[in-house]
Amino acid sequence: MKTSSPYPDSLEILLSELKRIPGLGPKGASRIALWLLSDPSRRSIPLSRALANAAEKITLCLECGFWAEATLCKICSDSTRNGSVLCVVEQPMDVLSIEKTGIFRGLYHVLGGRLSPLNQVGPEHLRISQLLKRVEQLKPQEVILALGADVESLATMSYLSSILKEKMIKVSKIAFGIPAGGGIEHADVLTLQNAFKGRSLL
Ligand SMILES: [Zn+2]
Repeated sequence: MKTSSPYPDSLEILLSELKRIPGLGPKGASRIALWLLSDPSRRSIPLSRALANAAEKITLCLECGFWAEATLCKICSDSTRNGSVLCVVEQPMDVLSIEKTGIFRGLYHVLGGRLSPLNQVGPEHLRISQLLKRVEQLKPQEVILALGADVESLATMSYLSSILKEKMIKVSKIAFGIPAGGGIEHADVLTLQNAFKGRSLL
C-alpha cells in the first residue's frame, strides 16, 4: 500500500519545485528546503522576494539578446565598448564566461541556441535575422564566432560564416583548447583567453 507523504502540503510543493532545478536530486532538494526554512526571515523570505523581483524585471536585451532590465543590457549601453567587433555566442551564460576573461571589449550577439535539424531548430528559431540587421547597422570590422565544439555548434558556425561572408564581413572563430563536445560555459578563464587570442579567420 502506498503511504502518503509525512510532509506538510506546502513543504511537499516546495520540494517538488526545487527538484525541477537541473542537477538537483531529491536529497539536494530536501537539504536546501531544510536550510531555507530553518531561518525564514534571513533565508526563504529574501530569496523568494529576489526571485519574484528578477522574474518580473529580467528580460532580454533588444540589441544583443543578453539579460537586461531595460531595453538595452549593461554591455550594449556601455559607451566604452568597441562596436567594431561583434562576438556571437549561443547562450547568455556564454557572455558571462567571456566577460570573466576580461579579454574581449567588443559587443555580443546571443543566438539563443544553435541549429539542430533533429530538434527542428532552424535559422528562423535563432536570433540570426537580428544578427544580420546589427551587422548592417554596426558594420563591424570583425565578427568572432564563439560557439561550442560539438557537431551542431560547428554546423551553426559554418552556416553563419557563409551568410556573413556574403556580406563581405571578416569572420573568425575562437580556437579550441576547449574539449570537443563542450560548450564554452565549461571552459576555464585561461583556456577561453587562449581561444580568443588563437582565433582563426573563416
Ligand atoms: Zn545588449
